Amino acid sequence: MDTLVYDIGNSRYVNLSDRCSLRCQFCPKTHHKLQLNEYDLTLEKRPTTQAIIGELGDPTQFDEVVFCGFGESTLRLKELISVATFVKNNGGSVRLNTDGLGSLVNKRNILPELSTCVDALCVSMNAQDEDIYNRHCQPTLKGSYVAMLEFLADAPNYIQQVTATAIDGLEGVNIKTCEALAAERGVSFRRRELDVVG
Ligand code: SF4
Repeated sequence: MDTLVYDIGNSRYVNLSDRCSLRCQFCPKTHHKLQLNEYDLTLEKRPTTQAIIGELGDPTQFDEVVFCGFGESTLRLKELISVATFVKNNGGSVRLNTDGLGSLVNKRNILPELSTCVDALCVSMNAQDEDIYNRHCQPTLKGSYVAMLEFLADAPNYIQQVTATAIDGLEGVNIKTCEALAAERGVSFRRRELDVVG
């Protein structure tokens, strides 16, 4: 059976998607490995809203319900909004970990929709410029880096807590410059460590 939800610390994570428009060279998925701690996040089929809600449990029992897996949840926007709305209606808190390309992929600004059901956004900035980003993230869509930065800059107009992240130790990534780019856009910054999900 597919793992639809999994736990890290006192947070419940939702494994909504196994697809994304990036092919990050540092991502286990790119190397066909979908194991995270004791969880195999391989999805044999795309889970329905009902299937996820059925596995979710009581959202008030967790610090947060986090949308995060080896895939991009905004590629399944309808299901993301439905499950997140369920969490909010049942007293929980929602965080979305995202590549920040949801508006580019969905061809519209998705932030107004996210604002109805997402408390916190964590956006993978990953690099201080397009060349380094393209080298590490290998986007399949043109203009991904610029689109991610635009999404990041607009996000605080809609979502209360917005954080940009970058992984320390990747070749050419300058964490201090990434942090400055985040500050210019009025969002927080978190340095991530390679292979640590959360
Ligand atoms: S966006 Fe996330 S899931 Fe997709 S390849 Fe990059 S790190 Fe992996």
